[in-house]
Amino acid sequence: MDSIPIDGFTVEPTEEKKTLRLEITRLFDDSPVSLPTGLISNGEDTKVCIISGQHGNEWNGIYSSQKFFKNVPHEAVKGTLIVIPIVNPLAFNEKSRVSSVDSIDLNRTYLNHSYRKPAEQIGTKLFAELFGETDYIIDIHGGGPGEYSPHVAVTDENLIEKASDLLLPDVYLGSSSSGSLASACAKENIPLFTVEAGKRRHIDRAYTDKIIKGLENFLKGVDMLDGKPQEGKPVVHSNKDKVTSPASGFFTPQVDLGDRIEKGDKIGELEKLFGEEKIIRTSVSGKILYLRSEKVVSKGENLIHVTW
Ligand SMILES: [Zn+2]
Repeated sequence: MDSIPIDGFTVEPTEEKKTLRLEITRLFDDSPVSLPTGLISNGEDTKVCIISGQHGNEWNGIYSSQKFFKNVPHEAVKGTLIVIPIVNPLAFNEKSRVSSVDSIDLNRTYLNHSYRKPAEQIGTKLFAELFGETDYIIDIHGGGPGEYSPHVAVTDENLIEKASDLLLPDVYLGSSSSGSLASACAKENIPLFTVEAGKRRHIDRAYTDKIIKGLENFLKGVDMLDGKPQEGKPVVHSNKDKVTSPASGFFTPQVDLGDRIEKGDKIGELEKLFGEEKIIRTSVSGKILYLRSEKVVSKGENLIHVTW
């Protein structure tokens, strides 16, 4: 596999499906940090970048993006398709959200002008050399201690129509955390679609099949693949609230992901260590887009995300 420094990377038309490694930086012992990358280009204008693995333990996205690249026929693609399934290889190799080399969340490093640690260098270089020149970015994630119902998040209502092409049942419109790729792209007017599906350290084929189908449909929608895109009809939510745990303990949910709940409904029980059980109720009405699956919870941690 060719290895190319990201600052020297230019897209040339490819005669066949190409995989290469994009060199980002070197660790203290001079070992390279490079990102496995799939490239197809016929030299035409539109450029789409599909990335995953900003968090190394979110495997639904990593599996889906590499599988999509393997499946798509080279000759069918018009424009340029760049797929980077593992954006933070140091974290992926530890099967962890962040790497112990720097303990930095890559998805909080964008445009924060810090350039010391490997994760910061990955974020800074990708944004400067690649993402800034891209027409559409799809960034695929999964949950943490809880599971996400598959959905697309966008920061601008003008992106809802394109987000619908990803054929997931829900679209969330809202701002993103400071330093995230979504907030950096919003500042620089780069259309970015954040896909969330499933939970950490799992590959759920029902979810990955949906994601792969959505990626294909999205490329039809931007004329990079032939065929009329299927019309997605997601429910659009522009509000989100999180129900957090009032105390530390053991949480037993009594709702399911995707349930519609009303203000005051019981969502589960919290049992405190050597202590009593407490009923947890939701303070808002809406759809449960995230549900905690880890049963041990600390005070203030998220139990559910409710959107409406
Ligand atoms: Zn993530």
